[in-house]
Amino acid sequence: MRSNGVVIAIDGHSSCGKSTVARAIADRLGIRYIDSGAMYRAVTVYFMQNNIPLPAVDGKDNPDYRPVLEKINIEFHDNLKTGLAEVYLNGQNVNEEIRSMEVSQAVSRVSSIKEIREKMVWMQQHLDRHKGIVMDGRDIGTTVFPDADLKIFMTADINIRAQRRFDELQRKGIKATMEEVVENLRMRDHDDTNREASPLRMADGAVVLDNTHLNREQQLDFIVKSLQHKGLSD
Ligand code: C5P
Repeated sequence: MRSNGVVIAIDGHSSCGKSTVARAIADRLGIRYIDSGAMYRAVTVYFMQNNIPLPAVDGKDNPDYRPVLEKINIEFHDNLKTGLAEVYLNGQNVNEEIRSMEVSQAVSRVSSIKEIREKMVWMQQHLDRHKGIVMDGRDIGTTVFPDADLKIFMTADINIRAQRRFDELQRKGIKATMEEVVENLRMRDHDDTNREASPLRMADGAVVLDNTHLNREQQLDFIVKSLQHKGLSD
């Protein structure tokens, strides 16, 4: 399988399993995986730790966020035990914290800030990808890597997504009700699709992967076939 330098962009709705599939395909190809949502979540942790006001919902009269941005440094470091990349905010590992309901509730407001998006996109575009990269998020195929070799748009029925997310939170011991999870998914889908700065859209040339009724192997198979179809894999 040709994986050297391959760039795969995976976008889609919240909690449809993008990161699971992205990580699995990166493993199979032996290339890097970056969870761009973890970066927006880490910025949100900074906002919460420092009591920085969230932008107004109508996007009007927002403060100048540039001085805040200068104080935020985000990095990925591999966890040597698990082999997975974990996100660090100003040198502190925030990989667990970024998954809390509080962060999930604030992240789409934070990620609607234009200056924040510009900085995250710049960082994403400057990560080392000479050996290939799989990145998942909301604007990867449209803005970060518009020239990606393969673009996937993932979605699934909202009730299935909510159930998967609820199960994941339960496993991690994070308290939330099913109603809260459904409401949070609806809100994030709405905010991500309707914001002004690089809203969630299906990128030109993207293929749709609706995984409502697909297991992990079937999803991987879909992506491998898409790569083969483009001559990117044997
Ligand atoms: O992927 P995940 O659900 O962890 O992303 C959290 C939030 O970060 C999304 O709801 C979205 O508001 C924002 N995000 C974004 N652009 C990306 C990745 C995530 O706006 N590329």
